Amino acid sequence: RKNAPALEAFWMPFTANRQFKAAPRMFVAADGMHYTTDDGRQVLDGTAGLWCCNAGHGRRGIASAVERQLATMDFAPTFQMGHPIAFEFAERLAEIAPGPRGKKLDRVFFTGSGSESVDTALKIALAYQRAVGQGTRTRLIGRERGYHGVGFGGISVGGIVSNRRAFPTLPGADHLRHTHDPAKNAFTKGQPEHGAELADDLERLVALHGAETIAACIVEPVAGSTGVLVPPKGYLERLRAICDAHGILLIFDEVISGFGRLGAPFAADFFGVTPDLVCTAKGLTNGTIPMGAVFAGRHVHDALMDGPDGIELFHGYTYSGHPVACAAGLATLDIYRDEGLLTRAAELADDWASAMHDLRGRNRVIDIRTIGLIAGIELEPRPGAPGKRAYDVFVDCFARGLLIRVTGDIVALSPPLILEHGQIDEIARVLGDAIDRVA
Ligand code: PMP
Repeated sequence: RKNAPALEAFWMPFTANRQFKAAPRMFVAADGMHYTTDDGRQVLDGTAGLWCCNAGHGRRGIASAVERQLATMDFAPTFQMGHPIAFEFAERLAEIAPGPRGKKLDRVFFTGSGSESVDTALKIALAYQRAVGQGTRTRLIGRERGYHGVGFGGISVGGIVSNRRAFPTLPGADHLRHTHDPAKNAFTKGQPEHGAELADDLERLVALHGAETIAACIVEPVAGSTGVLVPPKGYLERLRAICDAHGILLIFDEVISGFGRLGAPFAADFFGVTPDLVCTAKGLTNGTIPMGAVFAGRHVHDALMDGPDGIELFHGYTYSGHPVACAAGLATLDIYRDEGLLTRAAELADDWASAMHDLRGRNRVIDIRTIGLIAGIELEPRPGAPGKRAYDVFVDCFARGLLIRVTGDIVALSPPLILEHGQIDEIARVLGDAIDRVA
């Protein structure tokens, strides 16, 4: 085995995850739709890495842009100094920014990750409320089963209780009910018909806390990490209307849904609902050099830049707009444009949905949800062993050359957008066989 650490002696340097330590699996190379394992096997990537390598792996255009930028200028300080490539990338992003023409969220603030984008968007929202004389609005609302990264802002608005239980969180944070109603919407392709009224839960929180205390509401348009929960038809529109009625900013966390996952550049475009701020990362640089970006309307962005009440707001990271990340991002946008990848999921969505929904009726499959090029396949938990059934399916798929992701007992899929039709069938076949064998 190449590059294998002394397994008996190693500690985990990247995620606090005991499953990996119990059964370490290593990738050593990646190209196109495939990873190579340390024992030389090819594994089909059913998850675009971690929802991020939308243009597939080993893209030469990105590699050479990164190499060129490293040779030209490896780093430049932020704060007092700038560098042209950050402006160039911001301008290119502004062209495809979420929102309709004339109302695009075409101001960009660069960060280093999805978690930093979430913290940044929450801070911009608070700055904006102060700037418009609404300084009492400090409460932030998230949604149950929302995932917004691991910063203190993200875990506070995040809807996974176990992720925040051990830590202090932002005062006043509260959560909407989640959008998933299996009793009414089991096995729906695309957006479920029922449940728009779940958005009215924001009215409950307004009545409970008072609108004058609420700064912003953040949701993933499609909740990803907690198992692909697709918003019911009309839900996001209704949430937007309630936010407008009460002066609450609406933030979309598009760290997963951004950059073509649903078949439009952003979920905001796909659903036709424009929030005030959009958090991105992952696909921004095709998962290569870590980077995030927050998109905002001009008036909202200016609140951060100009500072409310004459208070200068300190915000920005050492690596905000990192020149090498910007080079990777520009090369990524070229690939997305040249290969039509930001809309490719729309072309594949029907085939994808059919292949996934054909798994209905298999062993222990209790729900299937698809939209764009993303799917959640929910298995019935084993009594007394939650998560174990899906984990067994993951292990079996991996042994037979397919990478899937599991979250609890839900299999989540989000392949690179360069996926071929035959690979849709391959994913469905390997996964279906694994479910038959071990679920
Ligand atoms: N928001 C969402 C919706 C995410 O899916 C993730 C990561 N999976 C994050 C935020 C956090 O991003 P990062 O891990 O880059 O900090």
